[in-house]
Amino acid sequence: MDRLGVNMVYRCGHKPQPGLPVPDTHDASLMRIAFSCPHCLSELARRCVLDTRIFVNLQQLSQGMSAFVIEVADAVEEVGEMLAAVGYGCTGKSQDELTPGMQTAVMGDQVWRKELWFANNTDPRHVVALIAHVKAEMVWLEPYLPMGQEAIEYCTFPV
Ligand SMILES: [Zn+2]
Repeated sequence: MDRLGVNMVYRCGHKPQPGLPVPDTHDASLMRIAFSCPHCLSELARRCVLDTRIFVNLQQLSQGMSAFVIEVADAVEEVGEMLAAVGYGCTGKSQDELTPGMQTAVMGDQVWRKELWFANNTDPRHVVALIAHVKAEMVWLEPYLPMGQEAIEYCTFPV
């Protein structure tokens, strides 16, 4: 039972709250605890008047490959650092299902992006597993959003 939660604290000094979807023993969870807690970071976004939003889409990225794509827009700097630490990259905003954002986007037009790729002829069970992964990702990200669940959009693009 002495996973995270008993002895570990976030960078801001707060402890993980029982009952919240917090850190399991997954590496990405261990990484998140190195940053401020979701409450402090969502408060920071509020103070900066940054309405952090998440867009989840399916994109066709090449002839035989598609990906579930998560894009986090208008994140405070520390959330960006955290996302970078758990595998997100900084790119421009996607325009539609066929047009991912450019790598060379100008400041202010950038999002934090994660792609979960699969071949178009993949076993459907693998695709279902990826969907479960996306859902789990939204569960831990939601508390970082000033608007909470309302700030998560599916099949909508940030542009
Ligand atoms: Zn905190």
